[in-house]
Amino acid sequence: MNTKFKRVFAVSLIFFLFSFSTAFAYLLKPYGWPKTSGQTYTVKVKYSTSDANYKTAWSTAVNDWNNKQSKIRFDLSELYTSSANSVGTMINSDTSIYGETTNTLTSDSSQITSFVARLNTANSEIAGNATVRRSTSNHELGHALALADNNVSVIFLAIMNQLRDRTTTYTPQTDDVNGVNAKYPF
Ligand SMILES: [Zn+2]
Repeated sequence: MNTKFKRVFAVSLIFFLFSFSTAFAYLLKPYGWPKTSGQTYTVKVKYSTSDANYKTAWSTAVNDWNNKQSKIRFDLSELYTSSANSVGTMINSDTSIYGETTNTLTSDSSQITSFVARLNTANSEIAGNATVRRSTSNHELGHALALADNNVSVIFLAIMNQLRDRTTTYTPQTDDVNGVNAKYPF
């Protein structure tokens, strides 16, 4: 390779890697909600906690996601006592765990039929910091939308980034919304 070509190649490579790491950083699970083209898909969700602080964390995160995209809408209500979808709390002795989401799938693993999301009350930051609760609730709802963890770096802005500062990144970011919009074409 001559020097000029090497330089052009290097610059092109940097641009390629930069665009790859910024525009397509989100990671998607190989399944999703059975959304119909042209329609918002509504997921009815019940509370599995009666604690006001945790209910606020989940209802705030539901609003955060609903305000950022219109593909999948979470409808969280006291009325849906029999819904299979639920948000609440758990006690996990591994206090490094903030939350957890389990998606139940169809037998062919192509679609989500329901989800269960929990905040770990044994984690001291979850127990003591409303912003961390909101951040984690939004992260777990991201899993319920079929987004995967996306740990690019400490400074990468994404709610699905487990390395994020939960006190400053607590709502879905552009990369997260791009992931949902890529997952569920309108
Ligand atoms: Zn996660």
